Amino acid sequence: MESKNSILLSLLMLQCLSLLCVSQSQDFDFFYFVQQWPGSYCDTKQSCCYPNTGKPSANFGIHGLWPNYKDGSYPSNCDPNNSFNQAKISDLISNMQKNWPSLACPSSNSIQFWTHEWEKHGTCSKSVLNQHGYFDTALSLKGKTNLLKALKNAGINPDGSSYSLQNIKNAIKGAIGYTPWIECNVDASGNSQLYQIYLCVDTSGSSLIECPVFPKGKCGSEIEFPSF
Ligand code: 5GP
Ligand code: 5GP
Repeated sequence: MESKNSILLSLLMLQCLSLLCVSQSQDFDFFYFVQQWPGSYCDTKQSCCYPNTGKPSANFGIHGLWPNYKDGSYPSNCDPNNSFNQAKISDLISNMQKNWPSLACPSSNSIQFWTHEWEKHGTCSKSVLNQHGYFDTALSLKGKTNLLKALKNAGINPDGSSYSLQNIKNAIKGAIGYTPWIECNVDASGNSQLYQIYLCVDTSGSSLIECPVFPKGKCGSEIEFPSF
C-alpha cells in the first residue's frame, strides 16, 4: 500500500515538473532573424556612419534575433540584471564586427548596437540561449542564409535599379526554402527600397521555419535595391 502511494506521488511530481518545463519553453513562440541592407540604412535623409573598423562589406548585416509571439506581439527587456558583457563573447567579436556592424551615428565600435539587441531582445530568450549562445546562434544563422547570393543568382543586384517585390521574395524562397518578409524604407528622394529581410526560426534557434505571423508594413510592388 505504501509503495503504491509513493509511486502515485512520484507520478504526480513528474507531471508537475513536465508542466513547469512546458511553461518555461513557452516564454516566446519563435524568433524573427532580421538582416539589414546597409545601402538602404545609409541613403536615407538621416544618413549613417561607418563603424570605426571601416566601411562594412557590401553585404547584408545582422540586425537582430528577436523572440516573438504568434499573435504578432513580442516581449522586450526581460532581465535588467543580465546586462551585455563583452567578456562573454570575446571569441565572437571579430566575426560580429564583420557580420553585425552598426551603421548608426556617431561612428562606434558597434558595442552599443549589440548591447541594445541583447538587452531588449536577447534577454527574452535566455531560457534557451545564454549571451554567448544568442550571438553565436545569430552568426550561424547568417552563415546559413546567404541572401545576397540568393538574390544575385536570380539577377537581382544592388545596383540602384528596381525589382518586383514578388521576384525578390521568390528568389529567397527558392534558395533558402522559406518565405521571407521584406521591410522597406525610403531613400532621400522618397523611393521605396529593400531595407530589411525577416526569416523565422524555431525556439531553439537551430532551424528556419515558415513564419507563424508576418510583420506589418508596406512596400511598393516594385522596390529599389540601392548599391552600397
Ligand atoms: P530595434 O529595432 O532592435 O529595437 O532597435 C534598433 C536600435 O539600434 C535603434 O535604437 C538604433 O538606433 C540602434 N542601431 C545601432 N546601429 C544600428 C544599425 O546599424 N541598424 C539599425 N537598424 N539600428 C541600429
Ligand atoms: P499577398 O497577399 O500577395 O501576400 O500580399 C498582400 C499585400 O501585402 C500586398 O500589398 C503586397 O504587396 C504586400 N506584401 C506581400 N509580401 C510582402 C512583404 O514581404 N513585405 C511587405 N512590406 N509587403 C508585402
